[in-house]
Amino acid sequence: MSAVAPVEEALERAATTRPLLVATDYDGVLAPFDADPMQATPVPGAVDTLRSLAALPGVHVAVVSGRDLVTLRTLTEIGDDEPIVLIGSHGAESSSAAVREAMEAAAVTPEDEVTLAELRSDIEALVKEHHSEAHIELKSAAVVVHVRGLPREVGDAAIADARRVALDHPGVKVLKGKSVLELSVSHADKGSAVTALGRHVDAVARVYLGDDVTDEDAFTRMRRPDDLTVKVGTGSTAARYRVADEPAAAALLTRLQELCSAAHVSG
Ligand SMILES: [Mg+2]
Repeated sequence: MSAVAPVEEALERAATTRPLLVATDYDGVLAPFDADPMQATPVPGAVDTLRSLAALPGVHVAVVSGRDLVTLRTLTEIGDDEPIVLIGSHGAESSSAAVREAMEAAAVTPEDEVTLAELRSDIEALVKEHHSEAHIELKSAAVVVHVRGLPREVGDAAIADARRVALDHPGVKVLKGKSVLELSVSHADKGSAVTALGRHVDAVARVYLGDDVTDEDAFTRMRRPDDLTVKVGTGSTAARYRVADEPAAAALLTRLQELCSAAHVSG
């Protein structure tokens, strides 16, 4: 963490502001990557830190992921009775009915459903015939091709072919992540989700942590002076701050939780 002092100052400011929205990506922020996407479990204590934050008056917490809602709930072990909002499929799904309504503009239309079904069938045929080493993940608004752990040329070829197939389906959004290609019919992104959620809870200050290109949609839309955006890891970013890795992200959330609790105790 090269810019320790400025982050601390920004955390102190956010911690004394209410309503406060604390939103974070899952993979590469709360949880280190794993060759098997279903084994990507959170840094110990990180989810409990979110629970402590969510228990404070005026503090709203969300996990925003490209994963679908069911998978996100399984991996985080955040129960549906807990006051933490889960936002899945890059802003196309939410665990909260009210938040879902706020994100209504991002809904998948019946036409999108037809496109998705055709796309699924074409991608399944492609992988079966030419790229059997790749994994397919079917989501409610997307088809995802995973090539993590494969030799680079094998993965690159699968990604390139899947991208070509996607181009045959108008309206499909292509999102390239780390060893992953997501083909989505949703018009939502993490930026539209975080800003919709922020409006929903009347957030004065908004915190967002993310590591991947899809998180840039949130970073670029969070330009208010009170916004605190944190990029996890290397690479160019529109975020104002940066930490090195998932444990450093967990430490930052812990620090924020401590500061928020102290602000709460002192009134
Ligand atoms: Mg991520």
